[in-house]
Amino acid sequence: VLDEAELQVADQLEAMQHQINKNTSRLENLAHYDSLTQLANRHRIFKEIQQAVKESAESEEFFGLLYLDLDNFKRVNDSLGHTMGDELLKIVAKRFLASVRTHDVVARLGGDEFCILVKGLKKREDSGMIAEKILTALGEPLKLGTAEFHVSASIGIVTIPEHGISTEQLLQNADIAMYRAKTEGRSNYQFYNEGMSVAASERVALEMELRKAITEQQFELYYQPQLDLGSGKIVSAEALVRWHHPTRGLVPPDDFIPLLEETGLIIDLGKWIIQQACVAARDWHDVAGENIRVAINLSPRQFKDPALPSIIRSAMMSAKLQPCYVEIEITESMVMSNIEESNQLLKYLKALGITVAVDDFGTGHSSLGYLKKLDLDVLKVDRTFVKDLPEDENDRAIVAAIIAMAHELKLKVVAEGIESLEQEDFLKRHGCEMGQGYLYSKAIPSGKFIEMLRRPDNIVPFKRSR
Ligand code: C2E
Ligand code: CA
Ligand code: CA
Repeated sequence: VLDEAELQVADQLEAMQHQINKNTSRLENLAHYDSLTQLANRHRIFKEIQQAVKESAESEEFFGLLYLDLDNFKRVNDSLGHTMGDELLKIVAKRFLASVRTHDVVARLGGDEFCILVKGLKKREDSGMIAEKILTALGEPLKLGTAEFHVSASIGIVTIPEHGISTEQLLQNADIAMYRAKTEGRSNYQFYNEGMSVAASERVALEMELRKAITEQQFELYYQPQLDLGSGKIVSAEALVRWHHPTRGLVPPDDFIPLLEETGLIIDLGKWIIQQACVAARDWHDVAGENIRVAINLSPRQFKDPALPSIIRSAMMSAKLQPCYVEIEITESMVMSNIEESNQLLKYLKALGITVAVDDFGTGHSSLGYLKKLDLDVLKVDRTFVKDLPEDENDRAIVAAIIAMAHELKLKVVAEGIESLEQEDFLKRHGCEMGQGYLYSKAIPSGKFIEMLRRPDNIVPFKRSR
């Protein structure tokens, strides 16, 4: 009986041990692998990086760390749903694995962010080859359900130990390089260098300053007059934002609008700009008795914001400004990304009575096809084409063609950046209706603009060309 019992207990113990082993390995798996893609997870890659740092101290070989972020994942996820999004991540994970050697480690850090540790490199630059291989592998179209997709990735690369000896520092630097790859137009890779860190910390500092600037209202709108070239009268003014920085003085918009756009802060500031511009235009009517329009620049984010129509409407209403005195300036790329939706929005704004202008024309896609489809009023010739008029033969031909084409489409033309009478003359002869530029006036505060409206002969060409 005792022998029997002993055997039974031994069997049970063995079975339990087996179960324990199974559970332990499952737990280990959970702890080290990403359940969706079966790639290594954050925890595991951290350990591997630490190990690589150690080994790099003892050997001649280099280790490369690639930080990857998919470029258009959010769009797939938003338009097709999470299940399809997950499917895409799985396919992409397989392509990453196929692009590296078996001893390299591919990990998913979360979302659409991945990380690859490449081992045993002879030269530091060799991880660039892996990045190239990955970009090529991603280039193959990818099937999800019935639809075909193209994914690409932006890749930042650091080498161990040059770019750091702590996991945190390495990943942070790789992330900074990845960010550079994004700003360089996506679907490319960048090796980290120290200059990038400086740029990144300046960005962080600037972002903090901008948040403060919004709450402390350090912004002011300036206005640049737009003239009817035929009569020489001011017909409208473009609102251009200025930042009165507490120590740096007046900061031009090109230095901060891109960051506002990227961080989404532009929505708040943009709302303020719209409100402010409407109030100013109302002042011009009341104080100077001149019925002129105000042109407001919109950024891509604002244009996509579903609240935009109501923001514009309520700004006009509370300023008691009629819509026919409001013009919005949009760029080609803003409408190109979704023509149907853009057209609906433009139709709505037009129905309200607002004028719509295409800004910086000639610098983007400049496709006649879409211009025809859209409900527009004004086309603004970018100042880069005006700059070398009338000397430059190419620019002469381009500007003449743009004006003729705009007129075919029943659009009025505004030339930007007119600085000389010769430029004005050329534009006038080619039938350009309106112009703005330093020849007439820089952008000025509303109060100054009102003074100008009261004494229009202040403006240079009024004296000289007449
Ligand atoms: P933009 O819309 O093309 O604005 C015209 C720019 O040309 C202005 O620069 C203006 O000061 C400058 N300019 C005007 N006349 C001349 C000239 O004769 N010669 C030269 N060389 N330049 C001239 P600014 O004010 O620095 O604005 C730069 C850009 O910042 C604008 O380009 C626009 O894209 C953006 N921006 C400005 N204000 C706003 C705003 O309120 N909202 C948004 N979203 N963007 C804005
Ligand atoms: Ca503009
Ligand atoms: Ca422009």
